[in-house]
Amino acid sequence: MDLQAELDFPEFKERVEQFCAIYCPPEQEFELDRNPVYPEALHQAMASSGLLSHCLPKALGGSDGTLVELCMINEILARHSMSATNILFINGICAALMAMAGSPEQQETYVKGIAEGRLKFSFALTEPNAGSDAAGIQASATADSEGYRINGTKLYTTGADVADYILTAVRTDSEGKASRSVSLFIVPTASEGLSIAPLDKIAGNDVASCQVEYRNVTVPTSARLGEENAGWSTLMLGGGLERLSVAACCIGAAQASLDEVLEHVKHRKQFGQPVGQFQAVQHQIADMATRLEAMNLLTYSAARKLQAGRPAVREISMAKVFAAEGAHEIITYGMRLLGAKAYLSETAMPRRMRESFLAMYAGGTPEIQRNLIARDLGL
Ligand SMILES: Cc1cc2nc3c(=O)[nH]c(=O)nc-3n(C[C@H](O)[C@H](O)[C@H](O)COP(=O)(O)OP(=O)(O)OC[C@H]3O[C@@H](n4cnc5c(N)ncnc54)[C@H](O)[C@@H]3O)c2cc1C
Repeated sequence: MDLQAELDFPEFKERVEQFCAIYCPPEQEFELDRNPVYPEALHQAMASSGLLSHCLPKALGGSDGTLVELCMINEILARHSMSATNILFINGICAALMAMAGSPEQQETYVKGIAEGRLKFSFALTEPNAGSDAAGIQASATADSEGYRINGTKLYTTGADVADYILTAVRTDSEGKASRSVSLFIVPTASEGLSIAPLDKIAGNDVASCQVEYRNVTVPTSARLGEENAGWSTLMLGGGLERLSVAACCIGAAQASLDEVLEHVKHRKQFGQPVGQFQAVQHQIADMATRLEAMNLLTYSAARKLQAGRPAVREISMAKVFAAEGAHEIITYGMRLLGAKAYLSETAMPRRMRESFLAMYAGGTPEIQRNLIARDLGL
């Protein structure tokens, strides 16, 4: 098998690169970091270019794109714009879950709505007392004559302040294990009893992460995604996509950092020569490149395995933890090798440093990935 995914898809990659050249210029990233407002024009451009929907089924407005292509899109977008990856991440995961588990009406309305850029979604699983232990969620939906009443608090719900709907995970049975007591609901953000408050983050405030309070929010039974108490398996499928996407984004951010560092050390002179001529510097760069190559191989190999329909929980967690920690390490090298310049907020590296922490949490922390790998190894 050809492990060099990029060689297989030159035209596809070129298309995504061209999109980024037009819609994700570097100055836009600085501006969104300094003065965060939701990048609506970018969102619409992603929808009309088909990037947002590429991996959705053709019948629902997508292009039947593969998981390898999903990784490529994430990787290339992440080289240029964290805002773009956030937009794709949230809306893409919600659309994928609804394409997998939704009724024909839900698919027609919501998945197509996302694909066409008419609807925005946000995804609410994490709660104040349930982060890594997602099975510990306490938000609940109680059936009544009008459908369901939802109560609870969600945290870090990204994009909720601009979303039309929040795909919300709640308990529909207070007694059972999560695998048999969690349901998913498509909750309109305009619902009575719903309040949304953005949280102040260290990066990515243009796509705000929010605290969401549900106080007797009433939704019809038709807002339920799939069967009652059967939401957990849908969530688990989404978790795999989420981790793969995060791993691919890490490759992009790390590649951008390596490119910038290479450029710098070739031109910055000290002691009468470019600093890139010092062996100590070369070794750091060799380590960055080696780590990046390994991140690439792990991520695309996991994507191919999942795409082939084979179990890939272990490989996806390996890719995710290795890429998240790898990107952080590569960016830290970048901070050192750019010298004091990297301490100035006018350069991209310190922003990437702040952004790189997100990959540690999103889709589960490094400790949780290692737990999953160990469990898959029979421990
Ligand atoms: C910017 C941002 C955006 C996010 N967006 C969303 C979103 O849109 N929707 C959503 O639902 N969530 C979102 N999240 C939440 C994210 O999924 C959680 O942060 C993540 O699941 C970890 O949960 P926690 O932060 O509560 O950490 P905790 O679970 O409190 O963990 C704290 C520490 O304890 C460690 N730990 C916990 N349990 C174990 C264990 N069993 N073994 C070893 N170590 C352990 C963790 O690894 C970590 O180091 C977002 C988070 C961030 C930062």
